[in-house]
Amino acid sequence: MNDMNRYDVIVIGAGVGGLSVATLLAQTGRRVLVLEQTDRVGGRALSFRGEEIADRGPAWYKDMLATQYTCLAGSEPDLETMIRNRLLDGYTLDLGYHAVSVNGAGYMLDFEELIGGLDEITRHGAAYATYYRGEFYQDVIGGTIDPRIKALAKSKNIHFQLFYTEPYMLNDEEITALERVSLQEWGEARGLTADDVLWTCIRSVATLFSTINNPNDISVGDIFRYFKHAIGPKLSRGLIRYTGGFVAGGTMAWPRAVARRFESFGGQVRLGHRVKEIRVDNGAVTGVRVVTAEVEELEFQAGVVVSNIPAQQTFRVIDRRYFPERWVSDTEGMYGYGSYVPYMGLNRLVMPEEHSRWGIKNDCVLPRSEGFDWDVYICWNIQSVTDPSLAPEGKYLYTAYLPITEKESLNKELVAKLIRRLPDFMEEVYPGFKASIDWKLDLVCWKLEGVAKSISQAGTQKLPVRSPHLKGLFFSGDTAKGYGVAMDCAIASGVICAGEILGRDFGIR
Ligand SMILES: Cc1cc2nc3c(=O)[nH]c(=O)nc-3n(C[C@H](O)[C@H](O)[C@H](O)COP(=O)(O)OP(=O)(O)OC[C@H]3O[C@@H](n4cnc5c(N)ncnc54)[C@H](O)[C@@H]3O)c2cc1C
Repeated sequence: MNDMNRYDVIVIGAGVGGLSVATLLAQTGRRVLVLEQTDRVGGRALSFRGEEIADRGPAWYKDMLATQYTCLAGSEPDLETMIRNRLLDGYTLDLGYHAVSVNGAGYMLDFEELIGGLDEITRHGAAYATYYRGEFYQDVIGGTIDPRIKALAKSKNIHFQLFYTEPYMLNDEEITALERVSLQEWGEARGLTADDVLWTCIRSVATLFSTINNPNDISVGDIFRYFKHAIGPKLSRGLIRYTGGFVAGGTMAWPRAVARRFESFGGQVRLGHRVKEIRVDNGAVTGVRVVTAEVEELEFQAGVVVSNIPAQQTFRVIDRRYFPERWVSDTEGMYGYGSYVPYMGLNRLVMPEEHSRWGIKNDCVLPRSEGFDWDVYICWNIQSVTDPSLAPEGKYLYTAYLPITEKESLNKELVAKLIRRLPDFMEEVYPGFKASIDWKLDLVCWKLEGVAKSISQAGTQKLPVRSPHLKGLFFSGDTAKGYGVAMDCAIASGVICAGEILGRDFGIR
């Protein structure tokens, strides 16, 4: 073993959780190596150019999707025809709908400030609204509330704003206790479920932040922690202007920028390096064994190894005998949340101009009576109106996500029902919509959220970032302890993990 292969820290996986911890550690002068199995950084925060899909072909595209827990469940026309006719050229497709929470002003901004900013990143914000029974109600943002919501709440004497204000009245112990309380239980106790318009608006925001359809399973504590600690300080700095938004040029621009910053701190990223095994000696990690396309076995040494691999798959790279049986079964048993994620190329916009700039939510595209755990919700954007670089001139990119459970995402019949239903649903909202569709891709992923923010798993109940069983083993990513929604959660966990390794408090709560 030469010294070139010896590092202070090895991070397995260049997802946003892996890159966050790696960058903070490299910034302190640690010698850090990131090993990534695919040919690019970002993990699930992945983007494709349409030309790349056409040039590299359907098999390559499907293989790339599979590395990130996603498959192509349908398309119109079929993918081969789309590629032959170069229908995707000029589009940039994220791995499904990939908005960033509060347009990046949540934990993403906390992290960026810790590493001295990411100047080359631009984000395009979007206002959000709920579509319910033919009406569009704008989301609360900052102190601004849709006047119809305000009037309705006043006339019915319902404390609608409690959802947004209660987090600031609670201390952290009280918020932690609420992790096990469902949104439904919390709302009923405060009389918020009494009016269906008001409750639908609250519930649709809660699903946006948790990606869970069923309000009996959404952890209200996890949302409150995010409101208080990720959003609250930015509200007082006047930075919260949007419910969501998109990273300009596609979501992968963000991990790419972080990777460049990591390398500027002296860190090394090796792509196409799949870790086969984490080495252990005498109760402590000592390094990893790696395979590449050219070399059957390579070894790298480090006394600290951070796994960014979704935690349920930890035991593919480390022998389960090092851990108590209960720990193994609890870790493998954590469930994520999946999603049906369609894209459509549109040849014109059939909705009012204002609507094309919004993210729009609806609580029921298909009712639970069709075989789902709960009514299936949707959030859609005309992403290319928000960021025109994502579609060719004169065309538009529609992206959406419809959360479904992991189990539902693996059920072909249920997925087929959603694929059939969506164009009809959009036609009901905007007559003429179906005729505006040039092409449609139907992706399904079974790990949009690595660990669902449910009452049995959210926040402090998640896998700790430091392994209690092996010295030097750490975890980061959306399956490890971290808060808030998806990418933000993965970033938060990376920062918490770096703090744990360095013995520093970076202030993530
Ligand atoms: C379709 C879809 C839509 C989404 N939409 C949104 C959204 O709108 N907003 C949002 O905030 N989030 C969204 N997310 C979730 C978000 O992308 C994830 O929460 C986040 O990117 C997870 O980051 P991570 O670091 O935890 O893990 P990952 O991104 O899973 O990173 C793990 C990395 O480890 C690598 N790896 C695995 N095994 C090995 C090995 N043995 N050796 C080397 N490398 C390995 C993987 O290739 C990967 O790069 C979406 C996800 C999907 C799938």
